[in-house]
Amino acid sequence: MDRAIVGISASPGIVLGHVHLLRWEVPEVPHHIIPDEEVEREILRFHKAVETAKERLQQVCERAERHAGPEEAAIFEVQLSILDDAELTGRVESYVRQNLGAEKAFDLVLLEWRQHFARSTVHMMRERVGDLTDVHIRVLSILLGLPDHDPVDVKKGSNAILVTHDLTPSLTVQLDREAIVGIATDSGTRTSHVAILARSLGLPAVVGLRDAVARLRGDEYVVLDGSSGMLIVNPSAAEIDAFRNRAVVEAQTEAELIKSADAEPITTDGVRITIRANVDLPDEAEQAAHSGAEGVGLMRTEFLVVGRASMPDEEEQYRSYKRVVEAFGGHPVVIRTFDVGGDKLPVGGYPTEANPFLGWRAIRMCLDEPALFKVQLRALLRAALHGDVRIMLPLVVTLDEVREARRLLDECAAELSERGTPFKRDVPLGIMIETPAAVIAADSFVDDVAFFSIGTNDLVQYTLAVDRGNVNLAGRFTPLHPAVLRLIKRTVDVAAQHGLEVSVCGEMASQPLMAFALIGLGLRSLSVNPRAVPLVKRIVRGLSVSFATEAATAALQARTAADVERHLRVRLLAAFGDAAFLRDGVI
Ligand code: PEP
Ligand code: MG
Repeated sequence: MDRAIVGISASPGIVLGHVHLLRWEVPEVPHHIIPDEEVEREILRFHKAVETAKERLQQVCERAERHAGPEEAAIFEVQLSILDDAELTGRVESYVRQNLGAEKAFDLVLLEWRQHFARSTVHMMRERVGDLTDVHIRVLSILLGLPDHDPVDVKKGSNAILVTHDLTPSLTVQLDREAIVGIATDSGTRTSHVAILARSLGLPAVVGLRDAVARLRGDEYVVLDGSSGMLIVNPSAAEIDAFRNRAVVEAQTEAELIKSADAEPITTDGVRITIRANVDLPDEAEQAAHSGAEGVGLMRTEFLVVGRASMPDEEEQYRSYKRVVEAFGGHPVVIRTFDVGGDKLPVGGYPTEANPFLGWRAIRMCLDEPALFKVQLRALLRAALHGDVRIMLPLVVTLDEVREARRLLDECAAELSERGTPFKRDVPLGIMIETPAAVIAADSFVDDVAFFSIGTNDLVQYTLAVDRGNVNLAGRFTPLHPAVLRLIKRTVDVAAQHGLEVSVCGEMASQPLMAFALIGLGLRSLSVNPRAVPLVKRIVRGLSVSFATEAATAALQARTAADVERHLRVRLLAAFGDAAFLRDGVI
Protein backbone atom coordinates (compact mmCIF):
# COMPACT_ATOMS: atom_id res chain seq x y z
CA MET A 1 0.00 0.00 0.00
CA ASP A 2 1.09 3.52 -0.74
CA ARG A 3 1.62 4.84 2.76
CA ALA A 4 0.60 8.43 2.12
CA ILE A 5 -3.11 9.10 1.68
CA VAL A 6 -3.50 12.61 0.36
CA GLY A 7 -6.53 14.77 1.01
CA ILE A 8 -7.36 18.38 1.75
CA SER A 9 -6.00 20.36 4.66
CA ALA A 10 -8.98 21.20 6.85
CA SER A 11 -7.55 22.18 10.23
CA PRO A 12 -3.83 22.70 10.88
CA GLY A 13 -1.63 20.72 13.23
CA ILE A 14 0.33 17.45 13.16
CA VAL A 15 -0.64 14.56 15.42
CA LEU A 16 0.46 10.94 15.72
CA GLY A 17 -1.76 8.16 16.93
CA HIS A 18 -3.71 5.01 16.21
CA VAL A 19 -6.58 4.87 13.75
CA HIS A 20 -10.08 4.65 15.20
CA LEU A 21 -12.09 3.55 12.19
CA LEU A 22 -15.71 4.60 12.33
CA ARG A 23 -18.06 3.10 9.79
CA TRP A 24 -21.25 4.85 10.79
CA GLU A 25 -23.26 3.88 7.73
CA VAL A 26 -26.04 1.39 7.21
CA PRO A 27 -24.17 -1.76 6.16
CA GLU A 28 -25.03 -3.80 3.07
CA VAL A 29 -27.25 -6.71 4.05
CA PRO A 30 -26.99 -9.97 2.10
CA HIS A 31 -30.30 -11.64 1.19
CA HIS A 32 -30.59 -14.75 3.26
CA ILE A 33 -33.50 -17.24 3.40
CA ILE A 34 -33.75 -19.51 6.43
CA PRO A 35 -35.46 -22.91 6.65
CA ASP A 36 -38.60 -23.29 8.83
CA GLU A 37 -36.78 -25.20 11.55
CA GLU A 38 -34.38 -22.28 12.14
CA VAL A 39 -37.03 -19.60 12.52
CA GLU A 40 -37.22 -19.69 16.33
CA ARG A 41 -33.45 -19.69 16.66
CA GLU A 42 -33.28 -16.70 14.29
CA ILE A 43 -35.85 -14.79 16.35
CA LEU A 44 -33.81 -15.50 19.46
CA ARG A 45 -30.68 -14.26 17.69
CA PHE A 46 -32.49 -11.05 16.78
CA HIS A 47 -33.60 -10.47 20.39
CA LYS A 48 -30.08 -11.10 21.64
CA ALA A 49 -28.75 -8.48 19.21
CA VAL A 50 -31.36 -6.01 20.44
CA GLU A 51 -30.31 -6.70 24.04
CA THR A 52 -26.64 -6.15 23.17
CA ALA A 53 -27.52 -2.92 21.38
CA LYS A 54 -29.45 -1.76 24.44
CA GLU A 55 -26.55 -2.50 26.76
CA ARG A 56 -24.22 -0.54 24.49
CA LEU A 57 -26.66 2.35 24.28
CA GLN A 58 -27.01 2.38 28.04
CA GLN A 59 -23.24 2.74 28.40
CA VAL A 60 -23.06 5.43 25.71
CA CYS A 61 -25.95 7.27 27.34
CA GLU A 62 -24.28 7.27 30.75
CA ARG A 63 -21.03 8.46 29.25
CA ALA A 64 -22.74 11.23 27.27
CA GLU A 65 -24.51 12.37 30.42
CA ARG A 66 -21.19 12.52 32.30
CA HIS A 67 -19.27 14.30 29.54
CA ALA A 68 -21.81 16.41 27.74
CA GLY A 69 -24.94 16.71 29.86
CA PRO A 70 -28.51 15.44 30.05
CA GLU A 71 -29.71 17.05 26.79
CA GLU A 72 -27.01 15.31 24.76
CA ALA A 73 -27.69 12.04 26.57
CA ALA A 74 -31.41 12.25 25.86
CA ILE A 75 -30.81 11.27 22.24
CA PHE A 76 -29.68 7.82 23.38
CA GLU A 77 -32.71 7.41 25.63
CA VAL A 78 -34.85 7.99 22.57
CA GLN A 79 -32.91 5.28 20.76
CA LEU A 80 -33.36 2.91 23.69
CA SER A 81 -37.10 3.46 23.58
CA ILE A 82 -37.14 2.64 19.85
CA LEU A 83 -35.62 -0.75 20.66
CA ASP A 84 -38.31 -1.30 23.29
CA ASP A 85 -41.07 -0.75 20.77
CA ALA A 86 -43.13 -3.93 20.59
CA GLU A 87 -44.59 -2.98 17.21
CA LEU A 88 -41.13 -2.75 15.71
CA THR A 89 -39.82 -5.99 17.14
CA GLY A 90 -43.11 -7.75 16.33
CA ARG A 91 -42.84 -6.72 12.69
CA VAL A 92 -39.27 -8.01 12.45
CA GLU A 93 -40.42 -11.33 13.97
CA SER A 94 -43.20 -11.60 11.42
CA TYR A 95 -40.72 -11.17 8.54
CA VAL A 96 -38.46 -13.82 10.08
CA ARG A 97 -41.49 -16.15 10.27
CA GLN A 98 -41.73 -15.62 6.51
CA ASN A 99 -38.21 -17.12 6.35
CA LEU A 100 -36.19 -13.94 6.07
CA GLY A 101 -32.87 -13.84 7.89
CA ALA A 102 -32.88 -11.55 10.96
CA GLU A 103 -30.60 -9.00 9.29
CA LYS A 104 -32.79 -8.62 6.23
CA ALA A 105 -35.96 -8.57 8.33
CA PHE A 106 -34.62 -5.81 10.57
CA ASP A 107 -33.24 -3.91 7.58
CA LEU A 108 -36.61 -3.94 5.82
CA VAL A 109 -38.55 -2.83 8.89
CA LEU A 110 -36.15 0.02 9.60
CA LEU A 111 -36.27 1.16 5.98
CA GLU A 112 -40.08 1.19 6.15
CA TRP A 113 -40.10 3.07 9.43
CA ARG A 114 -37.54 5.64 8.37
CA GLN A 115 -39.46 6.37 5.21
CA HIS A 116 -42.76 6.59 7.05
CA PHE A 117 -41.33 8.94 9.71
CA ALA A 118 -39.55 11.12 7.15
CA ARG A 119 -42.78 11.68 5.24
CA SER A 120 -44.80 12.46 8.32
CA THR A 121 -46.41 15.85 8.65
CA VAL A 122 -45.84 15.64 12.40
CA HIS A 123 -42.68 17.48 13.39
CA MET A 124 -42.02 15.13 16.34
CA MET A 125 -42.01 12.12 14.03
CA ARG A 126 -39.64 13.66 11.52
CA GLU A 127 -37.35 14.43 14.43
CA ARG A 128 -36.92 10.71 15.04
CA VAL A 129 -35.50 9.77 11.63
CA GLY A 130 -31.89 10.35 12.69
CA ASP A 131 -32.40 8.17 15.77
CA LEU A 132 -33.94 5.40 13.69
CA THR A 133 -30.91 5.52 11.39
CA ASP A 134 -28.53 5.21 14.34
CA VAL A 135 -30.51 2.25 15.69
CA HIS A 136 -30.56 0.71 12.21
CA ILE A 137 -26.75 0.88 11.98
CA ARG A 138 -26.12 -0.29 15.52
CA VAL A 139 -28.34 -3.41 15.47
CA LEU A 140 -27.31 -4.44 11.95
CA SER A 141 -23.63 -4.15 12.89
CA ILE A 142 -24.22 -6.50 15.80
CA LEU A 143 -26.24 -9.00 13.74
CA LEU A 144 -23.65 -9.01 10.97
CA GLY A 145 -20.78 -9.40 13.45
CA LEU A 146 -19.17 -6.14 12.30
CA PRO A 147 -16.98 -4.28 14.74
CA ASP A 148 -19.28 -2.24 16.93
CA HIS A 149 -17.72 1.13 16.22
CA ASP A 150 -18.93 4.05 18.18
CA PRO A 151 -17.85 7.64 17.87
CA VAL A 152 -17.84 8.19 21.59
CA ASP A 153 -16.38 4.83 22.48
CA VAL A 154 -12.69 5.64 22.46
CA LYS A 155 -10.41 5.06 25.42
CA LYS A 156 -9.32 8.25 27.11
CA GLY A 157 -5.76 9.31 26.46
CA SER A 158 -5.49 6.84 23.61
CA ASN A 159 -4.45 9.48 21.04
CA ALA A 160 -6.97 8.17 18.56
CA ILE A 161 -7.20 9.49 15.03
CA LEU A 162 -10.76 9.20 13.89
CA VAL A 163 -11.04 8.00 10.29
CA THR A 164 -14.49 7.91 8.77
CA HIS A 165 -16.36 8.47 5.55
CA ASP A 166 -18.23 11.56 6.61
CA LEU A 167 -18.59 13.02 10.03
CA THR A 168 -21.96 14.62 10.44
CA PRO A 169 -22.17 17.53 12.86
CA SER A 170 -24.24 15.37 15.20
CA LEU A 171 -21.46 12.79 15.39
CA THR A 172 -18.85 15.50 15.74
CA VAL A 173 -20.43 17.05 18.79
CA GLN A 174 -20.46 13.64 20.47
CA LEU A 175 -16.73 13.14 20.06
CA ASP A 176 -14.75 12.52 23.17
CA ARG A 177 -12.20 15.31 22.93
CA GLU A 178 -9.96 13.73 25.56
CA ALA A 179 -9.49 10.66 23.40
CA ILE A 180 -9.57 11.89 19.81
CA VAL A 181 -6.65 14.01 18.68
CA GLY A 182 -7.35 14.30 14.96
CA ILE A 183 -10.03 13.74 12.34
CA ALA A 184 -9.70 12.30 8.84
CA THR A 185 -12.62 11.89 6.45
CA ASP A 186 -13.02 10.50 2.96
CA SER A 187 -15.52 13.14 1.94
CA GLY A 188 -15.64 16.87 2.57
CA THR A 189 -13.74 19.97 1.60
CA ARG A 190 -12.24 22.98 3.39
CA THR A 191 -15.61 24.66 3.71
CA SER A 192 -17.71 21.65 4.65
CA HIS A 193 -18.97 21.74 8.18
CA VAL A 194 -16.78 18.99 9.53
CA ALA A 195 -13.78 21.11 8.55
CA ILE A 196 -15.23 24.26 10.07
CA LEU A 197 -16.07 22.48 13.29
CA ALA A 198 -12.67 20.77 13.51
CA ARG A 199 -11.01 24.17 13.18
CA SER A 200 -13.14 25.64 15.89
CA LEU A 201 -12.48 22.68 18.17
CA GLY A 202 -8.77 23.10 17.43
CA LEU A 203 -8.54 19.48 16.23
CA PRO A 204 -6.13 18.85 13.34
CA ALA A 205 -8.11 17.47 10.42
CA VAL A 206 -7.74 16.23 6.86
CA VAL A 207 -10.80 15.80 4.65
CA GLY A 208 -11.40 14.59 1.10
CA LEU A 209 -9.21 11.48 1.48
CA ARG A 210 -11.65 9.57 -0.76
CA ASP A 211 -10.75 6.00 0.19
CA ALA A 212 -9.01 6.01 3.56
CA VAL A 213 -11.81 3.98 5.16
CA ALA A 214 -11.45 1.26 2.51
CA ARG A 215 -7.65 1.25 2.71
CA LEU A 216 -7.34 1.05 6.48
CA ARG A 217 -8.20 -1.82 8.78
CA GLY A 218 -8.25 0.19 11.98
CA ASP A 219 -5.64 0.56 14.68
CA GLU A 220 -2.74 1.34 12.32
CA TYR A 221 -0.24 3.87 13.59
CA VAL A 222 -0.50 7.04 11.51
CA VAL A 223 0.64 10.61 11.27
CA LEU A 224 -2.16 13.04 10.53
CA ASP A 225 -0.79 16.18 8.95
CA GLY A 226 -3.65 18.66 9.05
CA SER A 227 -1.44 21.45 7.75
CA SER A 228 -0.60 19.90 4.43
CA GLY A 229 -3.59 17.57 4.25
CA MET A 230 -2.41 13.99 4.45
CA LEU A 231 -2.32 10.81 6.41
CA ILE A 232 0.89 8.75 6.57
CA VAL A 233 0.28 5.11 7.45
CA ASN A 234 2.90 3.19 9.46
CA PRO A 235 5.49 5.98 9.29
CA SER A 236 9.17 5.05 9.52
CA ALA A 237 11.24 6.25 12.49
CA ALA A 238 12.82 8.91 10.27
CA GLU A 239 9.39 10.12 9.11
CA ILE A 240 8.15 10.27 12.69
CA ASP A 241 11.14 12.42 13.61
CA ALA A 242 10.60 14.71 10.65
CA PHE A 243 6.91 15.22 11.46
CA ARG A 244 7.67 15.80 15.14
CA ASN A 245 10.19 18.46 14.16
CA ARG A 246 7.71 20.13 11.86
CA ALA A 247 5.08 20.05 14.59
CA VAL A 248 7.54 21.84 16.90
CA VAL A 249 8.29 24.49 14.25
CA GLU A 250 4.57 25.03 13.59
CA ALA A 251 3.89 25.37 17.30
CA GLN A 252 6.71 27.93 17.59
CA THR A 253 5.35 29.94 14.67
CA GLU A 254 1.91 29.91 16.23
CA ALA A 255 3.27 30.87 19.65
CA GLU A 256 5.15 33.76 18.02
CA LEU A 257 1.94 34.99 16.39
CA ILE A 258 -0.04 34.61 19.61
CA LYS A 259 2.42 36.89 21.41
CA SER A 260 1.09 39.82 19.43
CA ALA A 261 -2.54 38.67 19.47
CA ASP A 262 -3.56 41.71 21.48
CA ALA A 263 -1.85 44.19 19.18
CA GLU A 264 -4.12 46.67 17.41
CA PRO A 265 -4.95 45.56 13.86
CA ILE A 266 -3.85 48.76 12.15
CA THR A 267 -2.27 48.81 8.71
CA THR A 268 1.06 50.55 8.10
CA ASP A 269 -0.86 53.50 6.64
CA GLY A 270 -2.99 53.81 9.74
CA VAL A 271 -6.27 52.12 8.77
CA ARG A 272 -7.95 50.14 11.51
CA ILE A 273 -9.38 46.75 10.57
CA THR A 274 -11.85 45.05 12.89
CA ILE A 275 -11.12 41.37 13.44
CA ARG A 276 -13.78 39.27 15.08
CA ALA A 277 -14.07 35.53 15.71
CA ASN A 278 -16.40 32.90 14.34
CA VAL A 279 -17.81 30.84 17.20
CA ASP A 280 -19.60 27.58 16.58
CA LEU A 281 -20.16 26.22 20.08
CA PRO A 282 -20.83 28.17 23.29
CA ASP A 283 -18.11 26.03 24.92
CA GLU A 284 -15.50 27.74 22.76
CA ALA A 285 -16.55 31.25 23.72
CA GLU A 286 -14.11 31.84 26.59
CA GLN A 287 -11.14 30.55 24.61
CA ALA A 288 -12.14 32.50 21.51
CA ALA A 289 -12.40 35.63 23.64
CA HIS A 290 -8.69 35.25 24.38
CA SER A 291 -7.71 34.99 20.72
CA GLY A 292 -7.42 38.76 20.40
CA ALA A 293 -10.77 39.04 18.59
CA GLU A 294 -12.93 42.10 19.12
CA GLY A 295 -16.18 40.28 19.46
CA VAL A 296 -17.93 37.62 17.41
CA GLY A 297 -18.65 38.19 13.73
CA LEU A 298 -20.56 34.94 13.32
CA MET A 299 -22.00 32.57 15.87
CA ARG A 300 -23.34 29.51 14.08
CA THR A 301 -26.27 28.57 16.31
CA GLU A 302 -27.18 25.41 14.42
CA PHE A 303 -24.57 23.51 16.37
CA LEU A 304 -26.80 23.97 19.41
CA VAL A 305 -29.50 21.88 17.80
CA VAL A 306 -27.82 19.18 15.76
CA GLY A 307 -27.15 15.89 17.44
CA ARG A 308 -29.98 16.46 19.86
CA ALA A 309 -33.18 14.58 20.50
CA SER A 310 -35.16 17.80 20.68
CA MET A 311 -34.76 21.51 20.06
CA PRO A 312 -33.24 23.51 22.90
CA ASP A 313 -35.94 25.54 24.63
CA GLU A 314 -35.89 29.32 25.09
CA GLU A 315 -34.19 29.18 28.46
CA GLU A 316 -31.38 26.92 27.28
CA GLN A 317 -30.77 29.01 24.17
CA TYR A 318 -30.83 32.20 26.23
CA ARG A 319 -28.16 30.77 28.54
CA SER A 320 -25.97 29.71 25.59
CA TYR A 321 -26.16 33.12 23.89
CA LYS A 322 -25.65 34.95 27.18
CA ARG A 323 -22.54 32.89 27.83
CA VAL A 324 -21.00 33.95 24.51
CA VAL A 325 -22.05 37.58 24.96
CA GLU A 326 -20.58 37.74 28.47
CA ALA A 327 -17.36 36.05 27.40
CA PHE A 328 -16.80 38.91 24.96
CA GLY A 329 -17.55 41.56 27.60
CA GLY A 330 -19.26 44.33 25.69
CA HIS A 331 -17.82 43.69 22.23
CA PRO A 332 -20.34 43.11 19.43
CA VAL A 333 -21.61 39.55 19.11
CA VAL A 334 -23.32 38.73 15.83
CA ILE A 335 -25.56 35.72 16.31
CA ARG A 336 -26.89 34.03 13.21
CA THR A 337 -30.31 32.42 13.35
CA PHE A 338 -30.49 28.68 12.67
CA ASP A 339 -28.89 27.66 9.40
CA VAL A 340 -29.94 24.02 9.32
CA GLY A 341 -30.29 21.98 6.16
CA GLY A 342 -27.81 21.57 3.31
CA ASP A 343 -24.74 19.83 4.64
CA LYS A 344 -25.66 20.64 8.22
CA LEU A 345 -27.62 17.69 9.50
CA PRO A 346 -31.22 18.74 9.26
CA VAL A 347 -32.51 19.01 12.78
CA GLY A 348 -34.53 15.98 13.64
CA GLY A 349 -34.04 14.49 10.19
CA TYR A 350 -36.33 16.49 7.99
CA PRO A 351 -37.08 14.66 4.75
CA THR A 352 -34.05 14.26 2.54
CA GLU A 353 -34.24 16.50 -0.48
CA ALA A 354 -32.93 16.02 -3.99
CA ASN A 355 -31.04 19.33 -3.87
CA PRO A 356 -30.50 20.21 -0.23
CA PHE A 357 -28.30 23.21 -0.99
CA LEU A 358 -31.10 24.66 -3.09
CA GLY A 359 -33.64 23.39 -0.68
CA TRP A 360 -35.52 24.04 2.50
CA ARG A 361 -32.77 25.42 4.68
CA ALA A 362 -31.77 28.38 6.81
CA ILE A 363 -34.17 31.37 6.77
CA ARG A 364 -36.58 29.45 4.53
CA MET A 365 -37.12 26.74 7.09
CA CYS A 366 -37.27 29.20 9.99
CA LEU A 367 -39.95 31.30 8.35
CA ASP A 368 -41.98 28.20 7.54
CA GLU A 369 -41.71 26.98 11.14
CA PRO A 370 -42.42 30.22 13.02
CA ALA A 371 -43.04 28.48 16.34
CA LEU A 372 -39.53 27.05 16.30
CA PHE A 373 -38.00 30.30 15.00
CA LYS A 374 -39.69 32.47 17.59
CA VAL A 375 -38.19 30.47 20.45
CA GLN A 376 -34.79 31.48 19.11
CA LEU A 377 -35.75 35.10 18.50
CA ARG A 378 -37.09 35.48 22.05
CA ALA A 379 -33.91 33.95 23.48
CA LEU A 380 -31.85 36.39 21.38
CA LEU A 381 -33.82 39.44 22.49
CA ARG A 382 -33.31 38.38 26.10
CA ALA A 383 -29.58 37.69 25.66
CA ALA A 384 -29.21 41.13 24.07
CA LEU A 385 -29.68 42.67 27.50
CA HIS A 386 -26.22 41.42 28.44
CA GLY A 387 -24.18 43.08 25.73
CA ASP A 388 -24.02 44.24 22.12
CA VAL A 389 -25.99 41.48 20.36
CA ARG A 390 -26.76 41.73 16.67
CA ILE A 391 -29.04 39.26 14.91
CA MET A 392 -28.09 37.94 11.47
CA LEU A 393 -30.28 36.06 8.97
CA PRO A 394 -28.68 33.41 6.74
CA LEU A 395 -29.26 32.68 3.05
CA VAL A 396 -31.44 35.69 2.39
CA VAL A 397 -32.43 36.12 -1.25
CA THR A 398 -35.35 38.52 -1.00
CA LEU A 399 -36.45 41.48 1.05
CA ASP A 400 -39.71 39.71 1.92
CA GLU A 401 -37.73 37.29 4.06
CA VAL A 402 -36.18 40.12 6.03
CA ARG A 403 -39.54 41.82 6.52
CA GLU A 404 -41.20 38.61 7.66
CA ALA A 405 -38.36 37.92 10.10
CA ARG A 406 -38.69 41.44 11.47
CA ARG A 407 -42.44 40.98 11.90
CA LEU A 408 -41.79 37.82 13.92
CA LEU A 409 -39.13 39.64 15.93
CA ASP A 410 -41.66 42.36 16.79
CA GLU A 411 -44.19 39.71 17.78
CA CYS A 412 -41.58 38.14 20.06
CA ALA A 413 -40.88 41.51 21.68
CA ALA A 414 -44.59 41.96 22.34
CA GLU A 415 -44.84 38.47 23.83
CA LEU A 416 -41.88 39.02 26.13
CA SER A 417 -43.26 42.33 27.20
CA GLU A 418 -46.63 40.79 28.00
CA ARG A 419 -44.91 38.04 29.94
CA GLY A 420 -42.93 40.61 31.90
CA THR A 421 -39.61 39.04 30.83
CA PRO A 422 -36.78 41.59 30.48
CA PHE A 423 -35.35 41.97 26.97
CA LYS A 424 -33.75 44.55 24.73
CA ARG A 425 -35.64 46.42 22.04
CA ASP A 426 -34.19 47.51 18.72
CA VAL A 427 -31.56 44.82 18.38
CA PRO A 428 -29.77 45.42 15.05
CA LEU A 429 -30.88 43.00 12.34
CA GLY A 430 -28.48 42.21 9.52
CA ILE A 431 -28.18 39.68 6.73
CA MET A 432 -25.67 37.28 5.31
CA ILE A 433 -24.79 38.04 1.72
CA GLU A 434 -24.17 34.58 0.38
CA THR A 435 -26.11 34.27 -2.83
CA PRO A 436 -25.59 36.10 -6.13
CA ALA A 437 -29.19 37.33 -5.79
CA ALA A 438 -28.40 39.08 -2.52
CA VAL A 439 -25.34 40.74 -4.06
CA ILE A 440 -26.99 41.86 -7.26
CA ALA A 441 -29.99 43.23 -5.39
CA ALA A 442 -27.95 44.37 -2.35
CA ASP A 443 -29.28 47.92 -2.68
CA SER A 444 -32.83 46.67 -2.16
CA PHE A 445 -32.00 45.64 1.42
CA VAL A 446 -30.24 48.75 2.62
CA ASP A 447 -33.25 50.48 4.18
CA ASP A 448 -34.28 47.37 6.10
CA VAL A 449 -31.07 45.99 7.53
CA ALA A 450 -28.32 47.26 9.82
CA PHE A 451 -25.38 45.39 8.33
CA PHE A 452 -24.16 42.93 5.70
CA SER A 453 -21.87 40.00 6.32
CA ILE A 454 -20.52 38.20 3.28
CA GLY A 455 -20.60 34.42 3.62
CA THR A 456 -18.03 33.47 1.04
CA ASN A 457 -18.39 29.72 1.58
CA ASP A 458 -21.88 29.80 0.18
CA LEU A 459 -21.31 32.75 -2.13
CA VAL A 460 -18.59 30.79 -3.94
CA GLN A 461 -20.77 27.69 -4.03
CA TYR A 462 -23.80 29.46 -5.48
CA THR A 463 -21.87 31.68 -7.86
CA LEU A 464 -19.73 28.95 -9.38
CA ALA A 465 -22.41 26.23 -9.05
CA VAL A 466 -19.86 24.11 -7.17
CA ASP A 467 -21.10 22.05 -4.22
CA ARG A 468 -18.91 23.23 -1.34
CA GLY A 469 -18.80 19.76 0.23
CA ASN A 470 -18.07 17.70 -2.87
CA VAL A 471 -14.54 16.35 -2.84
CA ASN A 472 -14.61 15.78 -6.59
CA LEU A 473 -15.12 19.49 -7.12
CA ALA A 474 -12.63 20.72 -4.50
CA GLY A 475 -10.27 22.04 -7.19
CA ARG A 476 -13.11 23.99 -8.79
CA PHE A 477 -14.08 25.72 -5.56
CA THR A 478 -12.07 28.85 -6.26
CA PRO A 479 -12.87 31.82 -3.99
CA LEU A 480 -10.50 33.92 -6.10
CA HIS A 481 -12.56 33.47 -9.26
CA PRO A 482 -13.01 36.91 -10.86
CA ALA A 483 -16.80 36.56 -10.59
CA VAL A 484 -16.56 36.11 -6.82
CA LEU A 485 -14.18 39.04 -6.42
CA ARG A 486 -16.49 41.27 -8.41
CA LEU A 487 -19.50 40.25 -6.32
CA ILE A 488 -17.60 41.01 -3.12
CA LYS A 489 -16.51 44.38 -4.49
CA ARG A 490 -20.06 45.21 -5.48
CA THR A 491 -21.35 44.38 -1.99
CA VAL A 492 -18.67 46.56 -0.39
CA ASP A 493 -19.52 49.44 -2.73
CA VAL A 494 -23.26 49.25 -2.04
CA ALA A 495 -22.62 49.13 1.71
CA ALA A 496 -20.27 52.13 1.48
CA GLN A 497 -22.76 54.16 -0.56
CA HIS A 498 -25.40 53.63 2.12
CA GLY A 499 -23.18 53.80 5.18
CA LEU A 500 -23.80 50.17 6.14
CA GLU A 501 -21.26 48.05 7.98
CA VAL A 502 -20.02 45.14 5.88
CA SER A 503 -17.75 42.28 6.87
CA VAL A 504 -16.71 38.85 5.61
CA CYS A 505 -17.28 35.83 7.84
CA GLY A 506 -16.61 33.01 5.34
CA GLU A 507 -13.43 30.93 5.43
CA MET A 508 -11.74 33.21 2.88
CA ALA A 509 -11.10 35.77 5.59
CA SER A 510 -8.98 33.30 7.61
CA GLN A 511 -6.43 32.71 4.85
CA PRO A 512 -3.62 35.27 4.53
CA LEU A 513 -3.66 35.59 0.76
CA MET A 514 -7.40 36.04 0.67
CA ALA A 515 -7.55 38.32 3.71
CA PHE A 516 -5.06 40.50 1.84
CA ALA A 517 -7.36 40.52 -1.21
CA LEU A 518 -10.41 41.34 0.94
CA ILE A 519 -8.72 44.35 2.53
CA GLY A 520 -7.75 45.47 -0.95
CA LEU A 521 -11.37 45.15 -2.04
CA GLY A 522 -12.35 47.60 0.68
CA LEU A 523 -13.32 45.42 3.63
CA ARG A 524 -12.53 46.87 7.04
CA SER A 525 -14.07 44.09 9.12
CA LEU A 526 -13.28 40.37 8.98
CA SER A 527 -14.53 37.48 11.09
CA VAL A 528 -12.26 34.46 11.21
CA ASN A 529 -11.85 31.23 13.11
CA PRO A 530 -10.36 32.06 16.52
CA ARG A 531 -7.06 30.37 15.78
CA ALA A 532 -6.56 32.53 12.71
CA VAL A 533 -7.07 35.82 14.58
CA PRO A 534 -3.35 36.39 15.38
CA LEU A 535 -2.36 35.37 11.84
CA VAL A 536 -4.80 37.75 10.17
CA LYS A 537 -3.74 40.52 12.56
CA ARG A 538 -0.17 39.92 11.53
CA ILE A 539 -1.13 40.35 7.87
CA VAL A 540 -3.03 43.54 8.62
CA ARG A 541 -0.14 45.04 10.58
CA GLY A 542 2.35 44.23 7.84
CA LEU A 543 0.70 45.95 4.89
CA SER A 544 -0.73 49.23 3.80
CA VAL A 545 -4.25 49.65 2.48
CA SER A 546 -2.91 51.45 -0.58
CA PHE A 547 -0.72 48.45 -1.40
CA ALA A 548 -3.61 46.00 -0.87
CA THR A 549 -5.90 48.19 -2.99
CA GLU A 550 -3.39 48.21 -5.81
CA ALA A 551 -3.13 44.41 -5.61
CA ALA A 552 -6.90 43.96 -5.56
CA THR A 553 -7.33 46.34 -8.50
CA ALA A 554 -4.88 44.27 -10.53
CA ALA A 555 -6.63 41.08 -9.37
CA LEU A 556 -10.02 42.41 -10.42
CA GLN A 557 -8.72 42.82 -13.95
CA ALA A 558 -7.45 39.25 -14.17
CA ARG A 559 -9.50 36.76 -16.13
CA THR A 560 -8.97 33.54 -14.22
CA ALA A 561 -8.69 32.49 -10.59
CA ALA A 562 -5.12 31.35 -11.25
CA ASP A 563 -4.18 34.80 -12.60
CA VAL A 564 -5.84 36.49 -9.62
CA GLU A 565 -3.85 34.26 -7.30
CA ARG A 566 -0.59 35.04 -9.10
CA HIS A 567 -1.14 38.78 -8.83
CA LEU A 568 -1.87 38.56 -5.13
CA ARG A 569 0.87 36.10 -4.26
CA VAL A 570 3.62 38.09 -5.92
CA ARG A 571 2.62 41.16 -3.93
CA LEU A 572 2.09 39.37 -0.65
CA LEU A 573 5.50 37.77 -0.90
CA ALA A 574 7.00 41.16 -1.74
CA ALA A 575 5.47 42.55 1.45
CA PHE A 576 6.32 39.69 3.80
CA GLY A 577 9.17 37.83 2.16
CA ASP A 578 9.47 34.20 3.09
CA ALA A 579 7.76 34.55 6.48
CA ALA A 580 7.22 31.27 8.32
CA PHE A 581 3.58 32.05 9.02
CA LEU A 582 2.85 32.06 5.28
CA ARG A 583 4.20 28.54 4.82
CA ASP A 584 2.69 25.10 5.41
CA GLY A 585 -0.09 25.35 2.93
CA VAL A 586 -1.58 28.35 4.68
CA ILE A 587 -1.49 30.46 1.53
C1 PEP B 1 -20.62 31.10 4.60
O1 PEP B 1 -21.45 30.57 3.87
O2 PEP B 1 -19.57 31.64 4.17
C2 PEP B 1 -20.80 31.13 6.05
C3 PEP B 1 -20.02 31.87 6.82
O3 PEP B 1 -21.76 30.36 6.59
P1 PEP B 1 -21.69 28.76 6.68
O4 PEP B 1 -20.28 28.34 6.38
O5 PEP B 1 -22.11 28.41 8.05
O6 PEP B 1 -22.68 28.34 5.64
MG1 MG C 1 -23.38 30.05 4.62
